[in-house]
Amino acid sequence: MDDKLMLMIPGPTPVPETALLALAKHPIGHRTSEFSNLIGEMTQNLKWLHQTQSDVMMLTTSGTGAVEAGIINFLSLGDRILVGCNGKFGERWAEVGDAYGLNVERITAEWGQPLDTQQFAEKLTQDTEKQIKAVVVTHSETSTGVLNDLETISRLVKEHGEALMIVDAVTSLGAVNLPMDAWGLDVVASGSQKGYMIPPGLGFVAVSPKAWEAYKTAKLPRYYLDLGKYRKSAAKNTTPFTPPVNLMVALHATLGMMQAEGLESIFSRHQRLMNATRAAIKGLNMPLFAPDTNASPAITSVAPQGIEADPIRNLMKKRFDIALAGGQDHLKNKIFRIGHLGFVSDRDVLSAIASLEVVLQELGYEGFTPGSGVAAATRVFAQS
Ligand SMILES: *Cc1c(COP(=O)(O)O)cnc(C)c1O
Repeated sequence: MDDKLMLMIPGPTPVPETALLALAKHPIGHRTSEFSNLIGEMTQNLKWLHQTQSDVMMLTTSGTGAVEAGIINFLSLGDRILVGCNGKFGERWAEVGDAYGLNVERITAEWGQPLDTQQFAEKLTQDTEKQIKAVVVTHSETSTGVLNDLETISRLVKEHGEALMIVDAVTSLGAVNLPMDAWGLDVVASGSQKGYMIPPGLGFVAVSPKAWEAYKTAKLPRYYLDLGKYRKSAAKNTTPFTPPVNLMVALHATLGMMQAEGLESIFSRHQRLMNATRAAIKGLNMPLFAPDTNASPAITSVAPQGIEADPIRNLMKKRFDIALAGGQDHLKNKIFRIGHLGFVSDRDVLSAIASLEVVLQELGYEGFTPGSGVAAATRVFAQS
């Protein structure tokens, strides 16, 4: 059957009809008072979402552009930075640092394991001359499904005093508690096709007063991604360059939906989706790739044994039109990833798990009792 695609990948995520209808309209002029009013309202809603009083700016980029902007606006050539690398995205931010001539120190952990906060503590306390200018951490490492302990790392960075805490929050914002001001985060970057529930194309960067101080003396080159330009424009409810107006009208709609649901409900829904998915995978006797202590509420990675990951994904797509994500780099064909981020309900997880059971049987996988994954998921949903 056509036209029944179900996205269970960690981005792009499903888009609610309200937002799809907003996207279908004629673009409005971006220098009109109508559009300015929208920007004004969205700016307030974005602050609410980030739990901050600081500036939150919208850029026409994917998530990578937002994180890159969040790094280059506050640093200078040769600055020493620590980058947490326990997956594809952490590695990407280290590469951005390399590309701009920063002195990058990678704090690594095996893919599938969380970053070791003790290693950050050691580097930061040994740095008595305060040469570390920034610490970059990917909160929810999408490539593995690991949630890093950002709260602890940001506390260590606060104690250091000089370094900025720069966060890739692309698959954590709108899924798990991320109180920017309470945790003292300096830069929080995200992208539209994840928790925001709209298609790709917009990036978001929230910037603390401390980071704006660093901006004044930062010397790395910047033009399109110069956040000062966006800040100036945002103060006047406008944008420095032509923004994707349709995407923004759609965003206005989804931010309204998020406000109506409430932050606590959004977080508990993602927690429930994660718990049900993980319980189901355990019920299927399949190893989870991320530990229970550090599991991302946005994405669950599964490392099947005795059966390859990609045939499972391929048949899920062919048989049920459910898109799952694969493994990246050395994890290709070793893991598959179930996204449950954004516009995802309990029903979606039940469908995905039941479909997965059919697929596993069709592939001749005998490591589970049919019905055991669904049963485990229903138990979680019945209790919460
Ligand atoms: C999706 C994602 C990004 C951004 O990727 P783009 O393709 O540039 O939008 C960055 N970090 C994480 C953790 C992500 O999941």
